[in-house]
Amino acid sequence: MDEEHIIYGDELKVPVPNVSVGIQLHNALKQNKDVPILIDTFTGDRISSKTLLNTASRLGNSLKNFGLTNQDIIGVCSENNLHFFDPVLAALFAGITLTTFSSQYTERELTYIANLSQPSVIFCSVETVSTVLKIEAQLKRVPKIIIINHEEDYKGCQCVKNFISENISKTFDVDAYEPVPVNIKDDVATILYSSGTTGFPKGVMITHLNISTVFAIYMDGRYGLQRSPCIAFVPFYHTYGLFLVLRKFIFVSYVLIMKKFVTHIYLQAIQDYNIEELQVVPSVAQLLAKTDLLNNYDMSSVKSISCAGAPLSKHIEELLQKRLKVDNVRQRYGMTETTVGFMGHKVNKRYPSGTCGDVFPSVSVKVVDLETGKALGSMKTGEICCRGNVVMKGYLNNSEATNEMIDIDGWLHTGDIGFYDSNKTFFVVDRIKDLIKCKGFQVAPVELEALLLNHSKIADAGVIGIPDERYGEIPLAFIVKVQGENLSEKEVENFVAGKVAPYKRLRGGVKFVPQIPRNPSGKILRRMLRNEVNKFKSNL
Ligand code: AMP
Repeated sequence: MDEEHIIYGDELKVPVPNVSVGIQLHNALKQNKDVPILIDTFTGDRISSKTLLNTASRLGNSLKNFGLTNQDIIGVCSENNLHFFDPVLAALFAGITLTTFSSQYTERELTYIANLSQPSVIFCSVETVSTVLKIEAQLKRVPKIIIINHEEDYKGCQCVKNFISENISKTFDVDAYEPVPVNIKDDVATILYSSGTTGFPKGVMITHLNISTVFAIYMDGRYGLQRSPCIAFVPFYHTYGLFLVLRKFIFVSYVLIMKKFVTHIYLQAIQDYNIEELQVVPSVAQLLAKTDLLNNYDMSSVKSISCAGAPLSKHIEELLQKRLKVDNVRQRYGMTETTVGFMGHKVNKRYPSGTCGDVFPSVSVKVVDLETGKALGSMKTGEICCRGNVVMKGYLNNSEATNEMIDIDGWLHTGDIGFYDSNKTFFVVDRIKDLIKCKGFQVAPVELEALLLNHSKIADAGVIGIPDERYGEIPLAFIVKVQGENLSEKEVENFVAGKVAPYKRLRGGVKFVPQIPRNPSGKILRRMLRNEVNKFKSNL
């Protein structure tokens, strides 16, 4: 095998624990006794680690008694709130696979996603339960629906408290409770969703070993201020939000939860809680770099900013760095399929701007030529590939897509383009995959194209992402009308808007064209569509 030009991350300073993620979280939370671990930034309501541990242990035991085994999957469909992690931890304690659904999904989207993983139980919030109830009949497996943030049963669904009372072992003793051991290499801890390099969203199977490796990388201590509290506004259904909070549990520091990002509440929380490290996405980095509101708050506690989820422009990075007087905005890079980021900045190292930093410990990375597939040396641009225990087990029930993504030597092909410099510091500069990232959220062009083709006046459609200062990227649709039909741009935009989560709307607009460029096998040539946009811009 050609081992030239492989960049190896440092050796891990701490061993990867050989126990389930549930056992590690349980051990960590047990140390923390009765101090707040989750705080609602809007209301100030809080939950102590003792209460969290108590509820999750009781729920874990109840789920087992309800009949769930390690063959079952439980889903959580909720906005960020104080109770999101009750079922998350319960599943991890009980050795049951966890899956998470965006609270913004429409009925159509949720039906598609939930049918991929077919959870036996879906935990909902008061806000999301109506959507879940409406799609229940269309699900291949009819789930039991449980409400996480209500003291009583709600809309005919049992609340957590009543589910526990009905199912918990008569002799249950929380102090004696031990999470269930698992096969850490093979058992799937979480299934999150990603469209990968092409196609529709798929279920990404993340094992206990994947997560334990990530925990060990964090414990290594060279890559972040792990023990400092954080403000979590990134949705918990996404890998970024989910593992941000689980990491804080492991390090036993508290999390300020935001249901959604509101600038003045966020700034107030930084000031009131003396937050040292901010975890942001590029759209929030951009806002912080520019908003006048920031001048009204004391930001002097902030020592470090890390940014992930999508590319961050050099300009915004430098503006924010100056404005908050930090040494670096520490970009991280990775994807759902690599559990979380697999490169980032070391704590005390200075980096050139625009970089995603160094390869994380225990991970190997190479940059391959797009034509030949050969690994390239420094300063040469190609596709970034990653190998190591952070790489997913595969896509759920989709070995074809798995094999397209992970080659026989175990290299995961990211679909992102980048290079490394003479210090082995990485830069991500472009994307060859079909993915659009709007505010850090995934938008799969094929999903929008399939939806557009359902419109009776649309003969063909092609969707691409175009750069946008506020959102990062926004979807734009090229449309071929059915001959003789009248169709306006607004009609197309409204047709989509009613059927998708807000971040998938056609904010980039609609362009009518005579045909969509395709290769002989019918695949849309998106690069040509991108050129169309550039041509249009240069004619302005
Ligand atoms: P997700 O699976 O939703 O986390 O999306 C992963 C994708 O987001 C990556 O494959 C990249 O295309 C993009 N991405 C994430 N972080 C960065 C970054 N720091 N710089 C550039 N692109 C990024």
